[in-house]
Amino acid sequence: MSAGTREARYVIALDQGTTSSRAVLVDRSGTMVDVVQRAFTQIYPTPGWVEHNPQEILFSQLGSLTELLQKRGLGREDIACIGIDNQRETTIVWDPSTGEPVMNAIVWQCRRTAALVEERCGDPEVAAEVRARTGLLPDAYFSASKIAWILENVPGARERAERGELLFGTVDTWLVWVLTGGLVHATDVTNASRTMLYNIHEGCWDQWLLDLFGIPASMMPEVRRSSGSFGETSYPGIPAGIPIAGVAGDQQSALFGQCCFEAGQAKNTYGTGCFLLLHTGPEACVSHNGLVTTVAASAPDVDRTEYALEGSVFVAGAVIQWLRDELGLIRTAGETEYLARSVEDNGGVYVVPAFTGLGAPYWSPDARGAILGLTRGASRAHVVRAALESLAYQSADLVRAMEADAGAPMTMLNVDGGASKNDFLMQFQADLLGCELRRPQNIETTSLGAAYLAGLAVGFWSGIDELRRLRTTDDVFVRRMDLAKVEGYLAGWREAVRRTL
Ligand code: ADP
Repeated sequence: MSAGTREARYVIALDQGTTSSRAVLVDRSGTMVDVVQRAFTQIYPTPGWVEHNPQEILFSQLGSLTELLQKRGLGREDIACIGIDNQRETTIVWDPSTGEPVMNAIVWQCRRTAALVEERCGDPEVAAEVRARTGLLPDAYFSASKIAWILENVPGARERAERGELLFGTVDTWLVWVLTGGLVHATDVTNASRTMLYNIHEGCWDQWLLDLFGIPASMMPEVRRSSGSFGETSYPGIPAGIPIAGVAGDQQSALFGQCCFEAGQAKNTYGTGCFLLLHTGPEACVSHNGLVTTVAASAPDVDRTEYALEGSVFVAGAVIQWLRDELGLIRTAGETEYLARSVEDNGGVYVVPAFTGLGAPYWSPDARGAILGLTRGASRAHVVRAALESLAYQSADLVRAMEADAGAPMTMLNVDGGASKNDFLMQFQADLLGCELRRPQNIETTSLGAAYLAGLAVGFWSGIDELRRLRTTDDVFVRRMDLAKVEGYLAGWREAVRRTL
């Protein structure tokens, strides 16, 4: 602290999501004191393609930051540091001499490179090699094919890249580069692990993969630990000299924000989709059930790479939106709780929301959704309940897959995300799993993780023990249903899935 300055009271998390950018003010007790959020445009050039304007991402993010500082009357001396968590995989290529992106960001959801991935990784031997090096199943989601697409489709881009005139970054890297006035071109290990170009065992960009996708190594950012220095702010209109001290991809950030610091600890986020991550410590666990291996964010005093197994449910909260917007069965998502409780059981009704196929552990891209088990007595409440239950069944399937891969039962699951507010859903999930479910008071664990990573790096918090103590009283859910009944529900679900495959 320099002479005459106040003691910094806050850490700011920049939470750069898929549909909005938020600036989140976190105090020493780990409380989210304030949030400013700005949405930005989703660009759909053609069906299946998704883009963001990188300048709009930037201005929404910086706008939310300056508004937060102004609103609270905060200056440089109040802010200990900034942490960034971000939508993963989304790809930006820019010219550092002008700061101009060569085209819009290609968003993680964008499918334009599906054929390119098939062409480069279609050979099973190549796919296995990609998997062995990156922990990922080759897919258009990840940044590698998106960079290749940009180099192959933007006129002159390949030549410029080969002359060392272009930089690549995921959204974290773009924000850090701009915020530091172009001084730092870096990403963190968690974001790197989602590019499909990073060797998660050796901890470096993988030349074989760069060659496979035709990407010059000079474009790639330096890879740093998630908790540590990413430079200082140096951008007009933003207080100068604030350390950027933590960066992580959103899901790994949430894992950290849930205080899952050790092997065996897991979290499930119930949002539009579900994201389940299990910390596996220093072991990069290989899945035999269609899950991916990814790098976890670690505290600054951990001197080895730590890993996580990750699985996702494509359609989770989205099925609740569908009940509301397409079927008109509910007016608000919150209503599902009361409706689900208004009937004794699901009446034999199952909703399999395979709108875009089924993911792990089924991997059936051609499956389509279905409502099964309808009788004359089936009511709106039964269908709503069945839709809500589908989040829990799909998550339970993932948990079982993870247990098989990790070779140990899950004893506790931390939950967060918008739909985790639903007590009926959480109770039903605990009934299915038979393990303890813990929901922290602050379910905004993604921003909290970024704040924690940054705060630890600058000594704002002393260590992970202090973070564990900050965790406010959880709501705990344990199994209350008898086992025979649980088995009945699960058997019905398995049969419903079987019929949709
Ligand atoms: P994301 O970050 O993916 O946009 P959120 O974590 O904000 O998602 O969660 C929003 C999702 O959760 C929506 O799909 C919504 O339908 C669902 N949701 C929100 N509240 C509830 C609730 N009380 N019960 C069930 N689903 C809910």
